[in-house]
Amino acid sequence: MTEKSTSTRKFSLYDLTPSELKGFFASIGEKPYRAKQALDFLYRNPVDSIEKFTTLPAELRNEIGKIAHLTPLRLRASLESSDKAVKHAYELLSEKKSGILIESVWMPTESADRDSSLDRIKQSGGEQSKRYTICISSQAGCAAGCTFCATGKMGLKAQLTAGEIVYQVVHCMEIYKRLPDTVLFMGMGEPMHNFESVCAAVEIMTDEEALAFSERRIVLSTVGEIDKLDKFHRKFPRARMAISLTAPTDNLRDSIVPVNKRFNLQDVQNFIRKVDLHRGDRITIEYALMEGVNDTDEMTGRLLGYLKPITSRIKVNLIPWNTVSGLKFRSPDMARVFAMQEKMKAAGILTFIRKNRGRDSSAACGQLAGRI
Ligand code: SF4
Repeated sequence: MTEKSTSTRKFSLYDLTPSELKGFFASIGEKPYRAKQALDFLYRNPVDSIEKFTTLPAELRNEIGKIAHLTPLRLRASLESSDKAVKHAYELLSEKKSGILIESVWMPTESADRDSSLDRIKQSGGEQSKRYTICISSQAGCAAGCTFCATGKMGLKAQLTAGEIVYQVVHCMEIYKRLPDTVLFMGMGEPMHNFESVCAAVEIMTDEEALAFSERRIVLSTVGEIDKLDKFHRKFPRARMAISLTAPTDNLRDSIVPVNKRFNLQDVQNFIRKVDLHRGDRITIEYALMEGVNDTDEMTGRLLGYLKPITSRIKVNLIPWNTVSGLKFRSPDMARVFAMQEKMKAAGILTFIRKNRGRDSSAACGQLAGRI
């Protein structure tokens, strides 16, 4: 998959949005149709080398190859879990980031994932609906410092370029011969701490001449960077938004989600209340459950009170916390998680329990740490 000559000073063609790519071809004296031909080899029928852009004259391919390279990542390992989630670990190739690893997770999505109530599971007959989701990284490591997260424990190693983000999707297209149904920005990193690259990546994913994804199939998850999320939403109003809440009181949230000291629970609630949503759209509240920390009756009551004024604008994903070695938290008792879901539903809050996919290959939520 990697191009042989990945000169460290070159940029990746995947870093450019389609309009930037057209600008690049214009800058070397080429007509716009040449950019379109290159776009085909980037996104329609991906190849692993500029040499294989066979509709472009050899001279032009050589010229481009002196300035740019193609693949910005090298696959180092793929680990499949018993539940068929596959973690791909990639090495970054650019000069200053050489050797740093990032991860993406490709996973089948069962219909029962979306509503894990017993009735729904029975109705679906346990069958998979053959839909696939990819969870991608926007940074190598993360500076947000959430105390329950393996990525947060690493600190920030590097910001990813747009190409390093987009290529995680393109590479899975090559392997699985299909596009994912949903792209989640929930892998390593806080996407809103790498705003420009994430926006460029979403632009590439949604551009008709590139991956032609519907904005609705992209989920941007933030730990609470509300100002940037607002800016992102204005650029991509149909992309779905998720906010990792994880605690229903400022005291608790301050201690486990440091960003709460800048944007507290009231700020998050105000944003959700005021943001302009399309009819029927809801913001997802992610709530990672840790035993004895935020799954108690008291915390459930606090959460219900907090969500009450915004019930019609949200849905909640309860995520049983996944074990991370070296962290003091414990996974919750599932009976408690189901009981919590029932209480939330009784209060009129649309509430789902997210399945823990990829647990046995450390590919589940909060477990990504660039280790293979
Ligand atoms: Fe960063 Fe998200 Fe982990 Fe928090 S939960 S440290 S924002 S990757």
